[in-house]
Amino acid sequence: MKYLSTLLLLFLLQSAFAQSNNQADTSIQNLLRHYVTALAHDSMQGRKTGSSGMYKAAAFIANEMRAAGLKTAAGNDGYAQLFTADGLSAVNVMGVLEGQELKDEVVIICAHYDHIGLSENKKDSIFNGANDNASGTAALLFLAAQLKKLQPKRTLLFIAFSGEEMGLLGSKYVASIVDPVKIKAVINFEMLGIPSGKRAFITGANYGNFFSVLNKELAKKDLQKYGKYFFRRAPEDIRMLFTRSDNYPFALKGIPAHTIYVTDDENKHYHKESDEAHTLSYSFMTEVVEAAFIAIQPIVNGEVELKKIVVRPGRY
Ligand SMILES: [Zn+2]
Repeated sequence: MKYLSTLLLLFLLQSAFAQSNNQADTSIQNLLRHYVTALAHDSMQGRKTGSSGMYKAAAFIANEMRAAGLKTAAGNDGYAQLFTADGLSAVNVMGVLEGQELKDEVVIICAHYDHIGLSENKKDSIFNGANDNASGTAALLFLAAQLKKLQPKRTLLFIAFSGEEMGLLGSKYVASIVDPVKIKAVINFEMLGIPSGKRAFITGANYGNFFSVLNKELAKKDLQKYGKYFFRRAPEDIRMLFTRSDNYPFALKGIPAHTIYVTDDENKHYHKESDEAHTLSYSFMTEVVEAAFIAIQPIVNGEVELKKIVVRPGRY
């Protein structure tokens, strides 16, 4: 009887643990859905750079950064970094988490929050940009709150970029003013919401050691759950997603700068009016952001040095 009751107790404990894990998962899913739904709401008018919808989205993101306990960066207007590019006034949203030990070593965690605005389509006149890139912005806000609790050794700069859809304007601006020696990594998130075959990718995986650092950390944490290669190499085909997102202006400066994504631009909702919040898989998005949170810890704590990467502009 004693043996049986121990088994029973173990069983109860295990199922209680599984349940609390599931509850954690569900609450993260709900949080990500909440962020995506808010940013992709019709009232944001497709978040086109320079539009009132963009400013509204920026205010939402700034509020969440404040709630996460991030500080503002010197020289900015609160969390807003105002800049002009190509004749447009735009705003990146930026929050700082000062490192516990390695204050001068900075890791940028980022996602673009702008999208392409309004459509001529009479039935649905708004490009809501739920997957592109409310999903990446949701990941950014989730990671800000989680990393704040972790208190990493390096300084983290969380940036929601504007102007991406107009030619990486927000990231080009930041890349032009930072000291590349201080920036140890740029970790960018794009289109996390619609998986094909439950896979997440890293762009530019063949440059440097970012790809292997992330996968090794996950395998170390839970080999059974993550396998050896939870993150896959993005196919290096002619679409070259590496050069087409906000990591790229930093990579051109030699900074290890990569994008984590789930959905590529062949998805049927890509840059369509139908890119709406209800089309996303929040369970897989949760898996990816939780994996990212674990996988980047050696980087945010300065336990590994990422190699400088060499990309030749104009090669693609
Ligand atoms: Zn995008």
